Amino acid sequence: MLGETDAERLGDHADAVDATRTLVAAADKPTLRAWWVDSLTSRDLEVRALWPAWTALRHLPAHDFTPSREFNAASCEVCGLRREPYEAAPVELVRAATLVAPEHPVDTAPLHALLAAVGALGPQAQLTDEL
Ligand SMILES: [Zn+2]
Repeated sequence: MLGETDAERLGDHADAVDATRTLVAAADKPTLRAWWVDSLTSRDLEVRALWPAWTALRHLPAHDFTPSREFNAASCEVCGLRREPYEAAPVELVRAATLVAPEHPVDTAPLHALLAAVGALGPQAQLTDEL
């Protein structure tokens, strides 16, 4: 398993992509899911942000740096990272890869209340509508 110290020693784009993919693979999906649900009660936004970061980055393909043709050519067309050396992996990924399951029971009532409220919205509902 990749430790935090290893993850902090990154090199160029290829190393950053490899480290990110390793951290994503090391993270435990049920643990991240449990902490996300727990964040609905704890209101710990740093913990809540781990699930979406992991969800998005689990689709990061292995790839070589490809200069963007649409935006700044110093950024990669595939992942948006720059070519230059990186000193640290994304903190949230290091944390996601090292999380252990909550030791306390996770209260799922807020999740079920949220799902019920969203399910009760009409087909014309907008993100700005209040639940
Ligand atoms: Zn890239």
